[in-house]
Amino acid sequence: MTASRFDPGPIHLLRLGPGEDLVGSITAYAKIHDIRSASVTLLGAVRSASLRYFDQHRKDYRDFRIARPLEVTSGIGNISILDDEPFLHAHATFSDEDGQTFSGHINFGTEVFHIEATIQELDGVAPVREMEELTGLMVWSMDR
Ligand code: ZN
Repeated sequence: MTASRFDPGPIHLLRLGPGEDLVGSITAYAKIHDIRSASVTLLGAVRSASLRYFDQHRKDYRDFRIARPLEVTSGIGNISILDDEPFLHAHATFSDEDGQTFSGHINFGTEVFHIEATIQELDGVAPVREMEELTGLMVWSMDR
């Protein structure tokens, strides 16, 4: 395990509207406001969800899409640095009209209906994502 300590920074409340790209809009906001380290929560609804699943044996992502309106019952994520830019990593659970759920890593292409997001900035040295051979993931490097 590696760990870093942060102090609380400003909190941003975002409202995303119909047609916005969930990951794209939050990422763009983070870049504009130079948010390099943060925790993120979100809820609301989407018109469709583009998700990914990381196959631990193949060390590769499998992308899939739920192409219908869904509630975002719970979304959580963080912002750190990848390739010198703020990068959103978020997972969420979505539900349909029968309460059946789908979940996964939220990808670009998730189309918003209405989203309320909270970004809690973290004041400290931002984690930088680097490839880890063992897992095949871009993981936080915090030993700087
Ligand atoms: Zn993920």
